[in-house]
Amino acid sequence: MTDLRDLYQEVILDHNKSPHNYREMADATRLALGNNPLCGDKLKLYVRIEGDRIADVAFQGSGCAISKASASIMTDSVKGKSLAEAETLYGKFHDLLTGPPDVKADGAGLGKLAVFSGVRQFPARVKCATLAWHTLETILKGQEAIASTE
Ligand code: ZN
Repeated sequence: MTDLRDLYQEVILDHNKSPHNYREMADATRLALGNNPLCGDKLKLYVRIEGDRIADVAFQGSGCAISKASASIMTDSVKGKSLAEAETLYGKFHDLLTGPPDVKADGAGLGKLAVFSGVRQFPARVKCATLAWHTLETILKGQEAIASTE
């Protein structure tokens, strides 16, 4: 049985304590809200898209350590990437979290995002870890909607 320590790794705790890109963005070109009612995680995601690139990304919100750390690392990971690259990363991250719990997660190519590989052992927390990504997906698809994990 995986220990909770594996889930709350140091990286996650650090990002929760001092999240990166945690601010309002006055010149955002797109904005989306994310909501995970199961846990009470809420976030507002700001993105500035220039051409086909994510020139800047920031978030604000409240929620559990996993949702906040995931948003923090997500913003670090997609900043400067093309929209297509961000989509690919989202797909890989989603696979990492939703793969079978008895199979070791493959974090290859995910960089810091791989710290969330332990979350697949805790299905209730998967929605916390994917909230920021669902919200980003709303923006990438150009939908003016509120992303919900429900
Ligand atoms: Zn949560």
